[in-house]
Amino acid sequence: MLNLKDAALQREACLVGGEWVGADDNGFDDVTNPADGSVIGRIPRLGEAETLRAIDAAEEALPAWQALTAKARGALLRRWHDLLLEHQEDLAALMTAEQGKPLAESRGEIGFAASFFEWFAEEGRRTYGDVIPTPQSDRRLLVVKQPVGVCAAITPWNFPAAMIARKAGPALAAGCTIVIKPAGQTPYSALAMAELAMRAGIPAGVVNVVTGEARAIGKAMTESPKVRKLSFTGSTAIGKMLLKQSADTVKKVSMELGGNAPFIVFNDADLEKAVEGVMQAKFRNAGQTCVCANRIFVQAGIHDAFTERLAEEVAKLKVGPGNEEGVHVGPMIDAPAADKVLEQLEDALAKGGKLLLGGQRQNGNFLTPAVITGATPQMACFGEETFGPLAPVFRFESEGEVIALANATEYGLAAYCYTRDLGRAWRMSEALEYGMVGINNGHVSTCEAPFGGIKQSGLGREGSYLGIEDYLETKYINMAIE
Ligand code: ADP
Repeated sequence: MLNLKDAALQREACLVGGEWVGADDNGFDDVTNPADGSVIGRIPRLGEAETLRAIDAAEEALPAWQALTAKARGALLRRWHDLLLEHQEDLAALMTAEQGKPLAESRGEIGFAASFFEWFAEEGRRTYGDVIPTPQSDRRLLVVKQPVGVCAAITPWNFPAAMIARKAGPALAAGCTIVIKPAGQTPYSALAMAELAMRAGIPAGVVNVVTGEARAIGKAMTESPKVRKLSFTGSTAIGKMLLKQSADTVKKVSMELGGNAPFIVFNDADLEKAVEGVMQAKFRNAGQTCVCANRIFVQAGIHDAFTERLAEEVAKLKVGPGNEEGVHVGPMIDAPAADKVLEQLEDALAKGGKLLLGGQRQNGNFLTPAVITGATPQMACFGEETFGPLAPVFRFESEGEVIALANATEYGLAAYCYTRDLGRAWRMSEALEYGMVGINNGHVSTCEAPFGGIKQSGLGREGSYLGIEDYLETKYINMAIE
């Protein structure tokens, strides 16, 4: 167990209908620290039956929750937000222990997670309907918004708190109840958030968290007709599977899937700003984010100066356990994640890439950040998501060429482009087939803006004025007045 100021935040039980439940007969799973493999605790291995119980609890809690005013629900969400910030240090320590990211990034993520509760506490009061000018004098046409109902959320390990807040925030604000399955690697952040939801006074059954058998929990969530919506963040492969599983009950779905972000630097870019941007977009969370720069395209005229400065900055990154002072890059989440990055590196070198620095594995699952030049579309790092600290640099000549290269992927989540030519910035923004485009900056996520992808990167949007729409049904009322 970790040494937290508030020890009750490390929960080793799941929250179902307001009760903390253990493992019954199924046993427990260990949770390990990716920095050293040490066991930091255990969590219940729940399955289909317990998930169905949680869904029942969410269904029971629904009528009273949706009957509250949006203002009353918002007040509770706001309290949840406040509690996250009050316990930011403990929550960050918990996150770094189970996820590995540097403490400063964990603190930042708790703030980011809390921001969604605050934002949606406010947005809940703005789920306006409409009055449609009538085509018949004896009729009145109205549109109202109503909560979808019981929602299920399946979340990944790379943002253990924020991915939950981005779903639970709008769901609760809209009047929905929710059953959450966090990633097996990072359950404690979710369970601590559930504990704080209870302390905030959110009624029993409104927020439920189950840990354990991913497949069995996913099956119960997708097959149950009581669950009206599934929101998933994770790999494209699992997302497609859950989408198929949801077809039989025609659920609403939101999918935040993989990315393969291009980071494009034109000759006319501000070199220093572009280097700063790529450092942020590539190495945050050790490269383990779906909006990380995956392919760095640099125009010929600035290529050598850019790669030289990039290598200088990458050499300054300190690799180590996330709770150590001054560390920028923590461990990979597990051994297969580190293996995959090294395989991509080997593949790139075998196909003519040149390693400028990095690429060593240290103390288990730590990787030193690597930069390679001479990258080509034939390499695995062009077509696959790397999800690690490997920066491949591709040289290009023209705008048309780089647009074609950037779009030559089934993914369409985030793209970044550096140029000081206003016309080009506009053309690139339109031509890039991505849900989000950063122009002259490498960080686009914020609760006020719509996060999401096109093509095989997903369905739906999270955050912003659009995020709550995914948790609302549109009802049309046609009223005869005579
Ligand atoms: P990652 O590569 O980020 O681990 P995954 O898509 O495997 O991405 O995991 C994202 C989430 O999906 C996690 O909570 C994981 O436990 C869950 N998951 C994995 N496999 C399944 C499955 N078969 N059914 C339901 N959920 C699953």
